[in-house]
Amino acid sequence: MSDPFVVVGADAAGLSAASKFRREAPDREVVVFEKGRWISYAYCGMPYFVAGYVDRMSDLLSLSPSEVDERGIDLRRDREVVAVEPDAKRVTVETADGDRFEQAYDDLLVATGARATTGPFDVRGVDGAFTLHDMDAAAAIDAYVAEPDAYDPDRADVSAVDRERVDRNAAMRAPETAAVVGGGYVGVEVAEALAERGLDVHVFHRSGHLLSPFGETVGNRVEEALEAEGVSVHTDAPVDALVGDDRIGAVEIGDEGDPETVPVDMAVVGVGIRPNTDLLDGTGVDLGAGGAIRVDDRGRTSLPDVYAAGDCATARHAVTGEPDWTPLGLTANRAGRAIGATVAGDPTPVGDIAGTAAVKAFDTEAARVGVLDRGKAEEAGFDPVSETVTAGSRSGYYPGAAETDVTLVADRDTGRLLGGSIVGTDRAAIRIDTLATAIESEMTVPEIERLDLAYAPPFSPVWDPILVAAKVLNGTLDG
Ligand SMILES: Cc1cc2nc3c(=O)[nH]c(=O)nc-3n(C[C@H](O)[C@H](O)[C@H](O)COP(=O)(O)OP(=O)(O)OC[C@H]3O[C@@H](n4cnc5c(N)ncnc54)[C@H](O)[C@@H]3O)c2cc1C
Repeated sequence: MSDPFVVVGADAAGLSAASKFRREAPDREVVVFEKGRWISYAYCGMPYFVAGYVDRMSDLLSLSPSEVDERGIDLRRDREVVAVEPDAKRVTVETADGDRFEQAYDDLLVATGARATTGPFDVRGVDGAFTLHDMDAAAAIDAYVAEPDAYDPDRADVSAVDRERVDRNAAMRAPETAAVVGGGYVGVEVAEALAERGLDVHVFHRSGHLLSPFGETVGNRVEEALEAEGVSVHTDAPVDALVGDDRIGAVEIGDEGDPETVPVDMAVVGVGIRPNTDLLDGTGVDLGAGGAIRVDDRGRTSLPDVYAAGDCATARHAVTGEPDWTPLGLTANRAGRAIGATVAGDPTPVGDIAGTAAVKAFDTEAARVGVLDRGKAEEAGFDPVSETVTAGSRSGYYPGAAETDVTLVADRDTGRLLGGSIVGTDRAAIRIDTLATAIESEMTVPEIERLDLAYAPPFSPVWDPILVAAKVLNGTLDG
């Protein structure tokens, strides 16, 4: 009998792979090791849980352990894979009690995700200081921001939750002021969430505008949207230190010699993440962008019969053609599913990525795709030209029409679309999918201008904002 398909990590990439493999190869064994208790959860929903838009933590779960079991997947929780021996084709697994055992594999998928980095800050052991990169943190933040007598323990209604941590945070006096350190998309979502919970929120961002990968137009409008709802946005304001012994009391920004101190009684640090690759230390596996595991178009690593997918792996960028690292949910699910099929005997590409991402700040929606950054475009051999337009989201006379800003970036020589961003208050974000499709198809801006996009007054003006932007950029390309 052959050895099983072994999967490390039981979330988006890992369980997508195991489920697909099980369906395609019902007679073969698949074992999934998960180091924690949580499985099949939606990180993406955590800010909305904290905001109070989602009632119960269980609403953020997709599959329960028993449902995974019913699929015929051998799921083993509290089992951390600590080492891989590619020549012997086996992994070393450590239980929560510290016992170790070995497991042989035919094929191995590393789907270990990423973890939050905290830069110079140590958030451990300081009450009121958090990162938001696991479900227990979401439960703890939710408990911390509630007044002790108003907290509903049923919100953290999942057996896997760290109840002791939740209870401890629920018992503390509720904070009034919060610092969000880092103005990336998670920072923006957390700022909205905490403001919705009644806190006085400050966002501190290292560079000149929020949401750096979305470009300046988007960053500025999102900043305005947050400020309109009472959030204080500090740009060019890297936080130097979190201040407080047992419980956080302030953040320090600015000069080391003469720092500005902003008093806060809560801080959520969202300054970046790092791929979880430790289990492959010493194997000589090739790493790529962002320190993620470098994979080919089938998700294969440089080690024989070892695949990687999701936040721990690279993916080919649709514009540059190079391995890139943009850790997002669809990428993980899609690559996992493809690898499940490949290992089962149906070779399937994991697909390219275009860095398509969307975020909202209250009523303002923002999205981006492709390569917006001039330097990155030039590095990839393009000569980027860009235009930004402001256009109506619906016919001007139709209720609800709102100004939508569209930025398009194209290559001067070929006219090929390289990237785009959209921001506005009327269904702006989902329009990015038109641009994502255009980028995947390597369309030129003249081709985009000729697209037959839907027109009816409630949905779009005759000239959709994307068509307006393409028209203007074409003029520049022709000029
Ligand atoms: C706050 C927040 C909001 C987000 N919002 C969005 C969004 O709106 N849109 C979007 O596209 N993406 C979003 N993301 C990103 C998205 O959640 C991730 O891209 C996705 O979860 C990646 O899935 P994954 O399976 O690769 O990794 P994970 O979901 O991180 O799962 C990896 C699993 O592997 C386990 N593991 C790690 N090491 C080991 C080991 N050695 N042995 C055994 N098990 C191990 C971990 O415990 C974990 O359960 C968000 C993320 C966060 C934190």
